[in-house]
Order: sequence, then structure tokens, then C-alpha cells
Amino acid sequence: MHKITLIKGDGIGPEITDATIQVIEATGVQIDWEEVPVGENAVEKYHTPLPEVALESILRNKVALKGPTTTPFGGDYSVEITWGGNGKKGVRKYPSISVALRNELDLYCNVREIKNYPGVESKYQNIDIVFFRENTEDLYAGKEHMVVDGVAESLKIITEKATRRVAKFAAEYAVKNNRKTLTVVHKANIMKKTDGLFLEVAQDEIGKYPSLEVNDRVVDNMCMQLVQKPEQYDCLVLPNLYGDVLSDLGAGLIGGLGVAPGANIGDNAAEFEAIHGSAPKYTGLNRANPMALLLSGVMMLKHIGEVEAAQKIEKALTIVLQDKSKITVDLGGTAGTKEMGQAIAEVVATL
Ligand code: NAD
Repeated sequence: MHKITLIKGDGIGPEITDATIQVIEATGVQIDWEEVPVGENAVEKYHTPLPEVALESILRNKVALKGPTTTPFGGDYSVEITWGGNGKKGVRKYPSISVALRNELDLYCNVREIKNYPGVESKYQNIDIVFFRENTEDLYAGKEHMVVDGVAESLKIITEKATRRVAKFAAEYAVKNNRKTLTVVHKANIMKKTDGLFLEVAQDEIGKYPSLEVNDRVVDNMCMQLVQKPEQYDCLVLPNLYGDVLSDLGAGLIGGLGVAPGANIGDNAAEFEAIHGSAPKYTGLNRANPMALLLSGVMMLKHIGEVEAAQKIEKALTIVLQDKSKITVDLGGTAGTKEMGQAIAEVVATL
């Protein structure tokens, strides 16, 4: 029996997590889900969108499945944390729940698997890229302020320690999954100190793995290459901001946000979530595509050693994707979230 923290999130979160759980349970893998409130549904009871019970649960169980959570744009919205379970003291403020979770739990590598699925329409074929995004620093450290009226400043932080551990994780993942090439993405020609350090340290770390080829691309060139010949790329290692932007570009290459899974992984815990957000306009409409969260669940099953169950879900999904009456509207189908989950669960049960 695995004990896993469950965060249903808000917006379309509850609907897609319900569908995902139904499919995972159809594999027969025994999971005791510990549901904790995070996001809008936590505020009333805990007066914060990220209560300590959630952080403690993830650290105790070491694994979490997370639905998307809403982050209001602009204004003074911030997530305040005083939790001391990570050894830090004092109040810390983060721009979003996801950023808070990644930082508080030190989930330093964001892994996004971008590949084509038969039946999912896309402008490109033969894409199979893994993005490894550094998750804790760069311009996302949240160190920004108004210098004077009309002038804002943001601090870009790159450290050897954070770069080395994300590069090491990427290299180990690549070797374990028979990948061949890791490309370090940067803008070291302009940001010579920060991105220069990222490039130098990442190349040094990946260079310790003789079976891997390491090369690099300047981020603007990388964007063009991903649009022109994405099938030539294998694994990419990126600082936080480029990783965020380029992995959404990656999702666009394979059919959109609705089909792209992800994971945030650290030494103490791992959290699995789709790349997309809470798509508030679809809340409660039984319209959202559960595929991205389900594939995040597949990554989670592999992470906890349930490889056979993960493969069953991938196979069942591939079968269901062929039938338009069983898939959601964004995939060109006519089914709702629930019906798509039900259809995949039924196929899983026969495998
Ligand atoms: P979004 O990903 O929620 O939605 C963008 C659009 O993509 C939607 O309007 C919809 O057309 C489509 N889409 C996304 N997921 C889909 C799905 N499963 N099925 C079908 N279509 C889907 O991005 P947004 O509108 O920029 O953000 C909405 C909220 O989500 C914001 O508050 C944002 O901060 C938050 N967000 C949360 C996370 C997270 O929790 N990890 C990630 C990204 C955004």
C-alpha cells in the first residue's frame, strides 16, 4: 500500500483529479490517498491557500499528486508561509502556491515529458523531449521591488549548488531512461555571470556521464530550433524562466497544454502535476481534458516503482484516443472529463 498526498486544487482541478484517480485505481495498485486542502478551498478554514498540514503531509508521504491551483494576477497577492518544517524560520512570501510548494519542499527539478501521442493532433510528429527546469532560483526567486515610482527591479540568482543538482538529476534520469543527448539552454553571451555560471556548471556535471553527449544552445536560437526541427532534440536542461517558457512551447508542439504532464522532484519529496493551470472558465463544466494530469500520474507510478501499472495506463490511453466519442472536445472528441476517465479506466481493467 502506497500512501500519497492528494491535492485536488481548484478550477478544473477536482474534476481532472477524480478522473485520474479512477484510472489509477483501475490498475489495481493499492494507494491510500491523503487529501489535503490547498488553494481557494483551503483559505476559509486555514486563512492561507497553503496550510502547514499540506506541507507536512507531502514531506511525510514523500509523494503528492496535485491538481492545478489558481493564482490571481497582479495586485498584492502572495502566499505567506511561517512553517518551520524545512528548517527555515520567519515569514516568507511567494508569488503563487506552486512556487511556494517548490521552494518550501526544495523540489528543485521540474521534469516535463513532451511527446506525441497517436490520436492527438499536432503540427509535428516524432517529438520526444524531456525538459529539466531548475525550479528554485533565477528570476523566479521572487526578489523584486520598486526602486522608485516607475522603475521596478528583479534579482536574477544562479548558484553553482542549484545548477549542479539539477544537471546531476537530469543526467541520471537521462542515463536511466536510455537517453543520449543533453542540451544546456542559456543566454551566456549576454548574461555572462549568471547564465555563464549555469552553462559552465551544467556542462561540467553532465560531462561526468560518459554515455551522454552534452551540447548547448542560446535560448533564442533554441526557440527557433524547437519550432523548426523539434524532433532532433532529446533532453534539455534550463534555468527556471527559460524552462517555464520553453516547456509550454513544447506542450504546443504536441497538441497543447491539455496533454503535457510534469513533476517537481527534490531529495525529500516529489509532486506530480500537469503543466496547465486551473482553466477557471471550464470549472464544473465536465469539459477539461484529464490527460495531462493522468500522464503526470503515470510519471508518479513509475517514480514509486509501479512501472507495469504505468504502462497499462499509457496503453489504455493510446487505445481510447482513437475513439472520438470517448475523448474531450479539445482533442476533437465529444466526451466529457468523466466519460473520458471512465473509458480509460474500463480499458485498463481489461489489460
Ligand atoms: P491555464 O493552463 O489554466 O489555461 C489556459 C487555457 O488552456 C484554458 O483557457 C484552456 O483553453 C486550455 N486548457 C488548459 N488546461 C486544459 C485542460 N485540462 N483541458 C482543456 N483545455 C485546457 O492557464 P491560465 O488561464 O493562464 O491560468 C489559469 C489559472 O491557473 C491562473 O490562476 C494561473 O496562475 C494558474 N496556474 C496554475 C498552475 C499550477 O497550479 N501548477 C500552472 C499554470 C497556471
